[in-house]
Amino acid sequence: MVPEVRGICVDAEARCAHYDSPFDVIAIKVKCCRTYFACKDCHNALVDHSLEPWSAEERAHRAVLCGVCRSELTIAEYLESSSHCPTCNASFNPRCREHHGYDFADA
Ligand SMILES: [Zn+2]
Ligand SMILES: [Zn+2]
Ligand SMILES: [Zn+2]
Repeated sequence: MVPEVRGICVDAEARCAHYDSPFDVIAIKVKCCRTYFACKDCHNALVDHSLEPWSAEERAHRAVLCGVCRSELTIAEYLESSSHCPTCNASFNPRCREHHGYDFADA
């Protein structure tokens, strides 16, 4: 079952109106909604509460979706992925760690 990705102008590979480079192909499942969003700005545009970050103890959760192969990675796998999908080897934007970094509270 392919999870739904919410967001503004989300394309087939989870790019959105905010981040649309060829490498912006991941979606993040946000803790507060338990739903995938293309990015935190999409979340904030579509709901009326602020985003609740995952804590460092929750990195075993599958909360990152590769928009290319649709596999779900744990937060730990994503953080250790060196900006490549461990399943299909698609390149992730290294800057996602910055703009998504805020989705994962640092220890
Ligand atoms: Zn939310
Ligand atoms: Zn967005
Ligand atoms: Zn992949």
